[in-house]
Amino acid sequence: MTATDWTRRTAAELVDALAAGETTSVELTQAHLDRIAAVDGAVHAFLQVDTDGALAQASAADERRAAGSPASALDGVPIAVKDVLATKGLPTTCGSRILEGWVPPYDATVVARLRAAGLPILGKTNMDEFAMGSSTEHSAYGPTHNPWDLDRIPGGSGGGSAAAVAAFEAPLAIGTDTGGSIRQPGAVTGTVGVKPTYGGVSRYGLVALANSLDQAGPVTRTVLDSALLHELIGGHDPLDSTSIDQPLPALVEAARQGATGDLSGVRIGVVTELGGEGYQTGVLARFQESVDLMVKAGAEVVEVSCPSFVHALATYYLILPAEASSNLAKFDAMRYGLRVWPEGIENASAEEVMRATRDAGFGDEVKRRIILGTYALSSGYYDAYYGQAQKVRTLVTRDFEAAFAQADVLVSPTAPTTAFRLGEKVDDPLAMYLNDLATIPANLSGVPGISVPSGLAEEDGLPTGVQILAPVQADDRVYRVGAALETLLEQQWGGPLLAKAPTLDALRDGSSLASSGTGDQA
Ligand code: GLN
Repeated sequence: MTATDWTRRTAAELVDALAAGETTSVELTQAHLDRIAAVDGAVHAFLQVDTDGALAQASAADERRAAGSPASALDGVPIAVKDVLATKGLPTTCGSRILEGWVPPYDATVVARLRAAGLPILGKTNMDEFAMGSSTEHSAYGPTHNPWDLDRIPGGSGGGSAAAVAAFEAPLAIGTDTGGSIRQPGAVTGTVGVKPTYGGVSRYGLVALANSLDQAGPVTRTVLDSALLHELIGGHDPLDSTSIDQPLPALVEAARQGATGDLSGVRIGVVTELGGEGYQTGVLARFQESVDLMVKAGAEVVEVSCPSFVHALATYYLILPAEASSNLAKFDAMRYGLRVWPEGIENASAEEVMRATRDAGFGDEVKRRIILGTYALSSGYYDAYYGQAQKVRTLVTRDFEAAFAQADVLVSPTAPTTAFRLGEKVDDPLAMYLNDLATIPANLSGVPGISVPSGLAEEDGLPTGVQILAPVQADDRVYRVGAALETLLEQQWGGPLLAKAPTLDALRDGSSLASSGTGDQA
């Protein structure tokens, strides 16, 4: 057969090629493993690559297909998984030294569903330590590089998943979004990312950052691919007490309907508070262009105000550290991963070993949040900080309800800026936190959201994204509107945005990669 580059195909196209007998899962999986070997030294999207495991799963998929009984719509299509989800037999570090060497004895429900559906798992992707960050620079294993410009950040915390998909190392990936970690990396790498409704995808086996905010979801190159993946991983799980015990809406159908590009009858709300000051000019210009296209496609656009959203970031940075400080208490040197013996102390006590281990095992950002969270929860301060934050959280939900009475979906830029340079904000926590200005309200309220590529900012030629939010359990709307916008924009660009990425062809053969200046490699 001719030298088809399977890595450039979407998952939906790969499924068709498998069904038509044009290729095998082993061939597809090998093509992606070869791509990883060629470019990941420069991108550093992966912390672990499971060559043997992926190829064994691929050959099992080929046997099922030959027998006429594929396990699912995506049987045989390889995938990458963020290193925050437990994978049986495969190390899971959460980007932290404290979990170095930990091999989970069980699979997260999302991972179990991927395996049951026949998707070979290529490996585990890089992330900010315990999913705290917006650039992957807080990974203990070195940053991931943005495939559009290797000196820039790929977003975070799930920069590894987004970069793997953007660099054609994987057609699909799983991310997690607590404050924006699927959507913001999507925006700055020109990929699609979906945060499902809270409780729509099981959190069992997802190492918790903040239980009331965390949500796993798809990272892909097209809206349809996200819908295909979401339908496989979503739905009720008795192992997660917050899992919604109702069927998922018809997501693939919604994406296919949206792909016609027709938006007549759809009411789109532009959120006043999610734009303007603090947003890069080119990001706002591309956003306005997307809104104009949606109007041309028949949508009715209204402006909606959500006054509490201006307090969302501050609210999140009380609730998240509070939950995180309590979750991270379990890393005590007794149960998982690293154990450090304090220097110069004979017969060290359990407390002394814990202190030495936590000191050596956690990075600065994690320690910062443990301190913040412990403070916010301490007696005397609890009501003033944590209790107050919970009240604002209720106001955010009320604002969403009022806005959704006026509009079917809400839209905004996904991230206020394009990808910044590695090193630029890593020592400035507040500047880093501001990346999630537009994404955090959805997590506080549990509503679903998607980020769709919206073109390149004029001033730097880097990708930007549009965020589309829908009411709880109306995930189908984000797919319908997301797919419509994707179609309208691709008609304008004459093809997918990623085809325009300048470094991708250099990445193809692994040449000119050594020139990437910043950051270390694994
Ligand atoms: N950047 C945000 C944070 O650092 C979001 C993280 C996430 O969604 N996991 O908390």
